[in-house]
Amino acid sequence: MIIGSGPAGLTAAVYSARASLAPLLIEGVEAGGQLMLTTEVENYPGFIDGIIGPDLMDRMRKQAARFGTEYMSGNVTELDFSTRPFSIATGESTILADAIILATGAQAKMLGVPGERRLLGHGVSTCATCDGFFFREREIVVVGGGDSAMEEALFLTKFGSKVTVVHRRDHLRASKIMQERAFANPKLEFIWNAKVQEIVGDTTVKGLRFEDSRTGVTSELAAEGVFVAIGHTPNTKLFEGKLELTGGYIDVEPNTTRTSVAGVFAAGDVVDSHYRQAITAAGMGCMAAIDAERMLSDVPLIETAW
Ligand code: NAP
Repeated sequence: MIIGSGPAGLTAAVYSARASLAPLLIEGVEAGGQLMLTTEVENYPGFIDGIIGPDLMDRMRKQAARFGTEYMSGNVTELDFSTRPFSIATGESTILADAIILATGAQAKMLGVPGERRLLGHGVSTCATCDGFFFREREIVVVGGGDSAMEEALFLTKFGSKVTVVHRRDHLRASKIMQERAFANPKLEFIWNAKVQEIVGDTTVKGLRFEDSRTGVTSELAAEGVFVAIGHTPNTKLFEGKLELTGGYIDVEPNTTRTSVAGVFAAGDVVDSHYRQAITAAGMGCMAAIDAERMLSDVPLIETAW
């Protein structure tokens, strides 16, 4: 069984279906994962002219179906990893599985201000590696004050005509070394004590409205790109107390996808707080399917569970 339908889950499905493991993939309400929230994807190998995020996911889904992956919609409500076969409840049904691949992903934290959701993929982004290239010679804003924000801002200085970090306090949370790098970069500017109120623009981003938290004065800053870099939340609520987690992310044995429970594997952004790319998630999905296949070939299978 595979839980999650982003690049990690669907790649695990392609590999496990082709290994005749008859995978059942459970997809939640936000099927397809974070790529469903993007527009153009230009860095996924094999697509010379780029591909629209939802189209890429649709292709992966059909590719996995071609080899016999079955799909089920529903939110997993309960998991029992204490005995094998493992059992998974999804509201109406309980399903048994010999091996489970968890690929539930992560979510970028969002500001929750007007304009943000609507303009996501149209100037608002949560991934500089993915989208920085679209903002060559444009004015860019990065919101946040942690290591992620500094990393994104420094990376974006390669593209933007100007990069402004907008932070809600008067000092950064980022590590000393990242702060030093950021302050030393002449292309980076900072606006402190700035509480973002709105991301402005009709069909594409035109700027950002913020309030100075000390004076209450509201200002507008022109920008064509707004990168929200205020952290991520891995989707691991269901696994708390059942698997070893660190900082909310699932622990895996180094260079494998094996979690702290034998037979349960994990792949993609639910494990990886560092790279967070579709291609790295897909790579881990492949690893998880191979790890599961090897484990299952050593352990007798249960009868078909669905
Ligand atoms: P983080 O350390 O939690 O920082 C989040 C930043 O966003 C903070 O500055 C926070 O402001 C701000 N923020 C949070 N919610 C906000 C909101 N609603 N509105 C405005 N601002 C908001 O997250 P992170 O930067 O993603 O880093 C997560 C972990 O990964 C950290 O341990 C970090 O060191 C690590 N990391 C390391 C590297 C590296 O070493 N190269 C790179 C990336 C991440 P406040 O400061 O006011 O709380």
